[in-house]
Amino acid sequence: MTQLSTFSRRQFLAGVGASALTLPSLTDAFGNPLPTAQPGRKLGIALVGLGSYSKNQLAPALQQTKNCRLAGIVTGTPAKAEEWMKKYDIPKANVYDYKTFDRIADNKDIDVVYVVLPNSMHREYVVRAAQAGKHVICEKPMAIMPQECQEMIDACKKANKQLAVGYRLHYEPFTQEAMRLGQQKVFGPIKFVESSDGFRIGDPGQWRMKKALAGGGPLMDVGIYAVQGARYVTGEEPISVTAQFGPKTEPQKFKDVEETLFWQFQFPSGAVSNSTTSYTAGVERLYASCQDGWFELSPAFGYGPLKGRTSKGPIEKPIVNHQAMHMDGVCEVLLQNKTLPDHITGAEGMRDVKLLQAIYQAAETGRKIDLKA
Ligand code: NAD
Repeated sequence: MTQLSTFSRRQFLAGVGASALTLPSLTDAFGNPLPTAQPGRKLGIALVGLGSYSKNQLAPALQQTKNCRLAGIVTGTPAKAEEWMKKYDIPKANVYDYKTFDRIADNKDIDVVYVVLPNSMHREYVVRAAQAGKHVICEKPMAIMPQECQEMIDACKKANKQLAVGYRLHYEPFTQEAMRLGQQKVFGPIKFVESSDGFRIGDPGQWRMKKALAGGGPLMDVGIYAVQGARYVTGEEPISVTAQFGPKTEPQKFKDVEETLFWQFQFPSGAVSNSTTSYTAGVERLYASCQDGWFELSPAFGYGPLKGRTSKGPIEKPIVNHQAMHMDGVCEVLLQNKTLPDHITGAEGMRDVKLLQAIYQAAETGRKIDLKA
């Protein structure tokens, strides 16, 4: 694995400014002035895949956004197309299926394609969206293998379009505060991080339980948040990883993917992190033990409201719609014809995918994997 570049404070600062569109305060967590909604036309977003995340989170959020709107849909189910056209007043000309998708190139109403499909399909639809001349937002995990991420980055670069990953928490005030407390060493250097995300999964027939579509089990789905958490509170890239699979307590259900996974990162500063992800038990916590105190978010990764406290007392921050903040933040940068901050782009998505694969490698081999090479 090649050296992973640093999630720097500078990159982060460039990003948090964009998050402020619906915040009542005048500065972000780092004290930077907050921008406002952009004048002129809202960018048109087309959602690809109308499953639960599109239906229950993104479409409702797009009713609140200031810099973008729900302009189109891509679905393989005609009944869903009818329902969404009615519900969101979407013209027929802005409705595509997976075969006609590439014709989106001719649609001036659509500026951004948001890929919300099973993980193994992200690469194909991001590449096709870029080839159609659209900016792209891709859900997490960006892809299954780093090589796919590289192809997606290259396709967007070739088309001169920008690629963002659906890292909604980068625009969420409690998360931003945890980033600030850790990266600015408000309680001294971080010594230890506990960053875990898991839940008890339902329907065993869903694509999340199929390795070919999901790439793996809970690690690919929610473990990625635990990886992100350890990286964004330390502001460092891990230099090594060890990992262990948990037992399969329901072997019939978990034939294809892991049920539980534990891993440990070491960071250049000497900080260490310990993480759990699981489809069998609920856990959602980001805790940092520092030289002179501690801070914690719990819940830390869900749709909110998130909650936080420190060794000095509770963290008080506004409750926001994560998805609206994220899409507004990304679209604000696009409307300004600026470059997206690194921590929200495909480069960041690829860093995580490399780490997810390193965790699997460590668990499968039982070896400590050196991430510096
Ligand atoms: P879902 O199962 O609810 O929806 C998947 C959609 O893909 C459906 O509309 C389905 O019809 C379509 N699809 C097309 N081809 C398919 C195939 N071969 N097999 C299965 N479905 C197919 O899933 P979801 O929860 O909406 O997740 C979609 C993506 O969004 C995933 O990458 C997931 O990780 C991501 N997600 C992100 C968040 C977040 O908080 N950022 C939350 C949930 C999901």
